[in-house]
Amino acid sequence: MWTAEVSLPEFAVRSVALLGRERMLVFDTLLHPGDMSAFAGLAGNREIVTVYSHADWDHIWGTAGLPQSGGEVVGHSACADRFRAEVPETLAARRAGEPGVWDDVELIAPTTLFGESLALDLDPWAVELHHVPGHTRDSIVGWVPAAGVLLGGDVVEQPWPLAGAGLPLDPWITALREWALRPELRVVIPSHGAIAGPDLLERNAAYLTALRDGDDYPIPGGTDPFYADHYAADLRRYREQPEVGTD
Ligand SMILES: [Zn+2]
Repeated sequence: MWTAEVSLPEFAVRSVALLGRERMLVFDTLLHPGDMSAFAGLAGNREIVTVYSHADWDHIWGTAGLPQSGGEVVGHSACADRFRAEVPETLAARRAGEPGVWDDVELIAPTTLFGESLALDLDPWAVELHHVPGHTRDSIVGWVPAAGVLLGGDVVEQPWPLAGAGLPLDPWITALREWALRPELRVVIPSHGAIAGPDLLERNAAYLTALRDGDDYPIPGGTDPFYADHYAADLRRYREQPEVGTD
């Protein structure tokens, strides 16, 4: 298993490659096709299977830099919905705001779609994809049981995940608690923030529970203002409309 990371002044984001005998899985493709050059070099003559953790721009714009233009591209059915209007609109807005910077991006929508879960065979690795909405409605995680690794996307994040407006938190909290209880789970690889153990799942579940209930969550000293601001805005939203947070 390999990771590729891009650091911008505002944030860093990570993508993961898993090498099978004849196929390579790429979980998220970062910002630019060039961000995938290391994974393209790893692929050899393997078939590529690209998985999108969700359709946010920092996870999906590098696909064209992979061999076979990303090969089979897999995502939640709501991810494909977002590619119809929102994803091209976001790219157009970025191109207008930063001329020349995003010209190399080519949008490649997922065509292998699922609802609740999907099993992939990366011989010798079995990979399970599971829908965990909450950050966005199309968010998923990837589970590699033989390695004890959970690919978290933005479902799991350091120091806490960003709740999507209008989405219930209950299914997300339940999923995090269930994953945290799995004895085989050893490593959590989020898209943003340090690679961690199952304790990150517990901390994220505690944070989201406080948010749902409108409780104060103790913000550790030195927390990045980006996360502190998100917490304040999300807390305000759930306090004003508590019914949105529950299932
Ligand atoms: Zn993200």
